[in-house]
Order: sequence, then structure tokens, then C-alpha cells
Amino acid sequence: MNNSIIQENDLLDEWLALEEVFSINNYNPVGDSEVIYLEGISKQPRVLFCAPHALNHYRDNQLKVADIFTGSLCQLLAKRTNQPGLVAIAPTKKSDNLGFGHDYVNHIKNKVNTGVLIVDIHGMSDLHGYDICIGTGPNPSDRVNKLAENLANDLSDYRVSINHPFSASAKHTVTNFVQTNLKGDSIQIEIASRLRRPHHNGPDSKIFLEKITDVIKSYLE
Ligand SMILES: [Zn+2]
Repeated sequence: MNNSIIQENDLLDEWLALEEVFSINNYNPVGDSEVIYLEGISKQPRVLFCAPHALNHYRDNQLKVADIFTGSLCQLLAKRTNQPGLVAIAPTKKSDNLGFGHDYVNHIKNKVNTGVLIVDIHGMSDLHGYDICIGTGPNPSDRVNKLAENLANDLSDYRVSINHPFSASAKHTVTNFVQTNLKGDSIQIEIASRLRRPHHNGPDSKIFLEKITDVIKSYLE
């Protein structure tokens, strides 16, 4: 077997293994922890990857199903770029506020206070007609706009849109919360279902993961 095949299987196997923590109880919470947090090995992190919807959750008292494979994708991005990662795994509860647990918000606040840019990872349906939708939020800084531009340019093999249909300006978004309440930097990335299916669409999912990792790495250089 040649090396590239071994590596391809390793990456997809790792993605599938990481997702088991979320899928094991049909995407309902297990245990009392609010978050999975990876510190990352960078001494001065510049981004924090977040996945708030890795599990089923409530928003405005409505049950929302999990953005599957985003909790595992968030961790892979963090590991592969040496930056921190944060996944919400709070017990599902009805909520009419942001719906994030205390630990989740605290990690975000701590990182924003040191100037870290929040990269908020979500999953969207394939039905919107885009592969990737970048939301720059209600008050994007120059570096948020710069990262949006890099993503759109470097992922031009995909159907990328900026701020349509999801601008991340709605009150419940992490990006709105960070930009409005914390006066910090945050960007939202919505990823179509077809690009986060390591179990059904391994090759396309792997290529996407490698490409988006490369964009973030070059942004961090
Ligand atoms: Zn989401």
C-alpha cells in the first residue's frame, strides 16, 4: 500500500473517531461537562476554533439538530494549525438566550481579551446552493474581512458566498456576541453537508479539510 493511501485513511479514521463522542448518544449530551477544550501548542494563539452546535441543542425554545461532524472538524482544525479549539457539549436545555454554557462563554471571553480571533464553525444544508458561507457579522474588523477574503479566494474551487444566506448578524450567533458584546473579532463559517461526510463522502471531505486547513495556516503565517 502506498503512503498517500495510508495517510488518507488515517485522516478520515481520525475524523470518524473524533465524531463518536458526539454521535454515541444520537447527538444528545453525555455527562456533565460543558465543553471540550483543546489548548493548542501555540504560545500566542491567534485564532480559537469554536463549534457550538456539535450536539442537538435548543434555541428560542426550539430543538435544533446537531451540525454533525462540526465538533470533530473543529478539533481537527485546532490540532492541525496548533491553535486552540472549543466545542460545546453542554447538557441540552431549553434556552431563550445565547444557549451557551458558562464554560463555553468564559473560554471565548478569555481568548477575545487577548486579541484572539474567533472562528465559529457551523454546518448548513446542501439546499442553499453553496458549499461554504462566510458570515462576517454586524461589525467586522479589517482582519475579519481579510480572512473572509482569503477564504473566498483560496477556496474558489467551491461555491463560496459571503454573508448570504448567513451573515452571522443575528442575535444568537457567537460572531454577533463577540463583535457586539465583547468588541472583539469573530467570523462564522457555514459548511455544506456534502463536505463534512467522512463516512459517506470521504474523498471530498478530506480534500475540503486539507484545503481549509491550508487557508488558515497561510493566514496565520
Ligand atoms: Zn450551527
